[in-house]
Amino acid sequence: MELRASLPGSVIGVPDPLCLLTVHAHPDDESSKGAGSVALYHAQGVHTVLVCCTGGEEGEVLNPALDTPEVHARLADLRREELAEATRVIGYDEVVMLGYRDSGMAGSEANANPASFAQAPQDEAVERLVSIVRRARPQVMVVYGDEQSGYPHPDHLRVHEIGVLAFEAAGDPERFPEVGPAWQPTKLYYTEFSVARFRQVHEKFLELGLESPFDAEWRKRWDDIQAPVVTTSVDVSEFADIRGRALLAHATQVDPKSPFWFGLPPEVMRTIHPYDDYRLALVAGPDGSIGAPGESDPGGPDGPVETDLFAGVRPAESVSGAVG
Ligand SMILES: [Zn+2]
Repeated sequence: MELRASLPGSVIGVPDPLCLLTVHAHPDDESSKGAGSVALYHAQGVHTVLVCCTGGEEGEVLNPALDTPEVHARLADLRREELAEATRVIGYDEVVMLGYRDSGMAGSEANANPASFAQAPQDEAVERLVSIVRRARPQVMVVYGDEQSGYPHPDHLRVHEIGVLAFEAAGDPERFPEVGPAWQPTKLYYTEFSVARFRQVHEKFLELGLESPFDAEWRKRWDDIQAPVVTTSVDVSEFADIRGRALLAHATQVDPKSPFWFGLPPEVMRTIHPYDDYRLALVAGPDGSIGAPGESDPGGPDGPVETDLFAGVRPAESVSGAVG
């Protein structure tokens, strides 16, 4: 950790505690994307911080058992309670709300609401995120990628936009000086939608003689999606049930009978692609320069696939055997 000891605010000779900060758009995104890896790092003693950008006020009630007027009237409160439970299951040490309203889909009324994430002035949203980054001091940040044609939700697109800008601004003392001393995270990752996992789930349904929830339209969508560049694949087999358990905590958002999430027996589901896939997008050098990883560096598009988001950030020998 010598690398970081010379940064402002660090105590010379004392390694900074490891911190992972993820940015998600709505309550439940933290459960469907990367929950297993957050559970893994939490178990290793890494401080885990979730920034949730909106309250998910525009979510529909997708669990038929809870589709009642009472639930609809309390939906915003319920989604906060569900998020608290899901993040407890996953092992987030901190949950910070960025404070915006769910924007709904493009063109909807909610999208024009001045309190929505979509309408937030860019500088304001970036400043809020920079302020959290400078306080939490993560070495690793996780946001969404720029390729979102499969699900172009305005709030998800904004997570990408402000996530990249905040990563670049947090370490620059001249940007947003009023929100704390500069702190430069070392690595910025994008969570990647795993087409491979969904294909394998589909094949497993057929193999077991079950009806697959993935119809021809779904499968065509997979073919159309540009295969994401996976630079980093984190083995989450020890935490493979976390995603399902965390999703169930979002009781209004997830039908426990949904074949999409729960159609396969858990012991089968557990064995299918037990990895969280990421793309390493930006790396900050010791001199503060920020850029994409080198083509053939670990985490570069042609380099060896990383197995740890903290690779290169912590001494290699502390990686293996950290989880008992
Ligand atoms: Zn979302």
